[in-house]
Parts: sequence; C-alpha cells; structure tokens
Amino acid sequence: MAKINPSFSKELKKYGAFDFNACYNCGTCTATCSLSTKDDSFPREMVRYSTLGLEDEIKSSLKPWMCYYCGECSTNCPREANPGELMMSLRRWLTAQYDWTGLSGLLYKSLLLTTVLFVLSALGVIWYSARLDFHLDAIMHLGHLFEMFAILSVFVLILLPNLLRMWLYVEGKREKKAPLKSYFKSLGDLFIHMFTQKRALGCDDNQTRWLEHLILVFGYLLLLFTTVFLDWFSATNIFIIALGYIESTAVFIITFDFMRRRMQKEKEVSKHSQPSDWLFVIWLFLMGFTAFGVRLFIDLNILEQNTWLYLVHIIVLFQWAVLIVPFGKWTHFLYRSFAMYLAAIKEQGVKA
Ligand code: SF4
Ligand code: SF4
Repeated sequence: MAKINPSFSKELKKYGAFDFNACYNCGTCTATCSLSTKDDSFPREMVRYSTLGLEDEIKSSLKPWMCYYCGECSTNCPREANPGELMMSLRRWLTAQYDWTGLSGLLYKSLLLTTVLFVLSALGVIWYSARLDFHLDAIMHLGHLFEMFAILSVFVLILLPNLLRMWLYVEGKREKKAPLKSYFKSLGDLFIHMFTQKRALGCDDNQTRWLEHLILVFGYLLLLFTTVFLDWFSATNIFIIALGYIESTAVFIITFDFMRRRMQKEKEVSKHSQPSDWLFVIWLFLMGFTAFGVRLFIDLNILEQNTWLYLVHIIVLFQWAVLIVPFGKWTHFLYRSFAMYLAAIKEQGVKA
C-alpha cells in the first residue's frame, strides 16, 4: 500500500514549490508539455502525487528529470499552480533524497547555513594561505593539488554513492528488472545526454537555451581539463594558453547571460530563482572570470604583486568543489544524465 506523507506539501515548499494544491487536475499542463508522452506523462501526475504526499512514488520516479523547464505548463495552467516550478522543486527535493550525507537538503532549505559554510570555507582558505605566508608559488602548487584531489574524492565519496542510491530508489520499485546487458547497451545514452542534453531540443522554445547550455558544458569541462590536466596556469605552450582563454571566456560570457536573464525575469524559467540557482550561475561566472584574470596576470607578469587575485580564484574554486558540486545545483547535471540512462535501460528491459 502506498505510503502517504501528509506534510509533504509543506516540505516541498521549502524547496521552492508554490501553491500546487490549487491544482484541480484538469490536465492542461500535460497536454501543453511537448516532452510529455503517453508512456511518460507529466507534470499533472507529479502535481497529483505531490498533493497526495506520495513520497515513495516520487522518489522512484524519473519524471521530474524528464522536464527541461521551458515553463509552458505554468503559463497555461488555469489555476496558477505553477507545475513547471513544482517539477524544479521536485528535482531539488530528489537531489536531497539521493544525497547520503543529508547536507544537500540542509543547504537547499537554509540560506543561513549556506552562508555560514561559504564564509567558513573562504576563511579556511585564507587561514591556510596565511600559514604559507601568502607565498604565491606555494599557494598555486597547493591549489593545483587540491583540484586533482577534489575531483577524485568528491566523485568517489559523494557522487558515486548518491548515484547508487538513486539507482536503488528507481530500480528497486521496478517489477520487471532490466537485464544486465541493457546497462551496457544504454551507456551511449548516458554520455549523449550528459554532453548534449539533446532532449531539451524537444521543448518548443528551447533552441537558444540548448545551444548556450551545450557551449557552457563543453567550455566548463574543457576548462577543467585544461587547468587540472594541462596545468594551464603553468603552461608555456601557446595552444594550451589560448585554449584556456577561449574556454574561460565562453564560461563567463554565457553565465553572465544566464544571470542577466534571471535578473530580468523575461521567461518563466528565470522568474523563480532560488539561492541555489543564483549560487550556481554566480560561482560558475566567477570561476571562468577569475581563471581568465589569473592567466592574464601571469602573461602580463603582474600576478606576483597581485596574489589576492589567485586567492579569490582559489576561494571560489574551493567553495565550488566542496559545496556546489557535491551538494548544490551542479548535481542536477549528473542526475539528469543518469535519469536518461536509467530510462533507456528501462526501455531496453521492456523490449527484452
Ligand atoms: S497544474 Fe494546472 S494545468 Fe496542471 S492539472 Fe493542475 S490545474 Fe490543470
Ligand atoms: S516546464 Fe516545460 S518541459 Fe517541464 S513539465 Fe512544464 S511544459 Fe513540460
């Protein structure tokens, strides 16, 4: 028998949802959604589950990840129940359920805690740099080691166990288990969706957003590769230096445009930003911008006199790596791709 959580509505509102109880189940949102299909019908069903407090059904569902937030359903909802924002809030809530540490949920729900952790992490970096007498070479060496260490440890200790929990929630509920070979057969879907988010192209007005997103994903991942594995800040090869400049420029220009749209609230998707949305775009902007600045100061030979710039960069990087990537909005990128992978596995299982 389905378990009902009577306080689910109240809980979900802490993740950003509006008054979805106003929904009278007309189905206009589902009819409007260009990504909803007969087999994967949403968002009405998710609104219904949320109203009823069917927590387990939501936890085992991939449907919140199938939505790419074009906002069409919210624009057309006659009750202003904002189903698009509900789907977004469900994604935040699911992220908190997958996270074994519980920190993700706490950060989504408490701006105070988020601020405290961001301030403490900045102070931690400054304190450690002070112990190194703010010696630029020593801080840069440590910063580079940290980048490598952070990538590996965050993935192994936080993201991998969380993906396993997501898989357990989804697959544990399935009556017909997918055969093992479908996990291999569907691997292509995982990477295609991770790098291209091609499903978003199905949204009626998403083409520009999709292209920007594509450039941002490639810019960000390549910048990560260039700084960590090609050691951009110490590189002397002109191609590596130019590559880093191009990637960091792409990252900060596109994220600046994201911030502009959130401020102007032109479209439904940018109207209801939560602190986690702001932190994501601002920190990504700062990462690209400060990385660009650091390399520019190296090339102008003035970084030595401006250690503060590298310090700002490493603080931003540290907060990004230990707070936003494992517990913040960055995880949506990973869970959405994994959801597409699980959906493809399910499809293979049905065919088998
Ligand atoms: S959310 Fe709005 S459009 Fe969707 S079923 Fe409810 S009332 Fe209808
Ligand atoms: S926001 Fe767009 S993609 Fe998401 S459920 Fe609504 S109409 Fe569908």
